[in-house]
Amino acid sequence: ELRPFGARLIAVSKTRAPEDVKEAYAAGQRLFGENYVQELSEKRDLLPVDIQWHFIGHLQSNKVKFLSPFVSCIQTIDSHKLLMEIDRQAQRSGRVIDCLLQIHIAQESTKFGFTFDEARKLMEDQQLQACQNIRVAGVMGMATNTEEEDMIRSEFRLLRSFFEELKIGRPDFREVSMGMSGDYRIALEEGSTLVRIGSAIFGERKPKG
Ligand SMILES: *Cc1c(COP(=O)(O)O)cnc(C)c1O
Repeated sequence: ELRPFGARLIAVSKTRAPEDVKEAYAAGQRLFGENYVQELSEKRDLLPVDIQWHFIGHLQSNKVKFLSPFVSCIQTIDSHKLLMEIDRQAQRSGRVIDCLLQIHIAQESTKFGFTFDEARKLMEDQQLQACQNIRVAGVMGMATNTEEEDMIRSEFRLLRSFFEELKIGRPDFREVSMGMSGDYRIALEEGSTLVRIGSAIFGERKPKG
């Protein structure tokens, strides 16, 4: 496995046909990211079992049960309630699921995620610390959708330094998921450990629906 900058590549395969995933798989890719629960469930049945699936879309608690038997990481934790439900369902499946806290770093108000303070508080939560079937393994964030490199860079830098803060005393904390097709170079320079890349691998996406 190639790890430039020490980061791993997640091939984001949302809206792509299973054949496209197979082609990337044949080239050696094992880590894939999906955004929609039903699409992921259907694809998974058609594809090799050694693929590691990262869920990167917005996730409602009532859908966790469809992912918990197999998903390797849920990157989009944006509530205490969601984490508790993942723990509950992972226990039923006899698994431990990696979870990343989605942190709001962009200027846009539409993107999901915790503020730094909310995430700090969550990490201190007693109920969460008692959970046996989730592993809070790091943070994930999306930069502002802008041409201004300086802005993107400063958002990624802030996320990386927040990660360094939370990491203290937490050996399981090891991932900073940041960087997409348009900004992964900056993300790598700023210390990303997981880049999530779709269109730069598979081509432009058709609008959904
Ligand atoms: C779709 C998506 C990506 C990949 O986006 P590209 O611009 O196609 O690389 C990465 N992260 C998240 C959360 C996404 O929804």
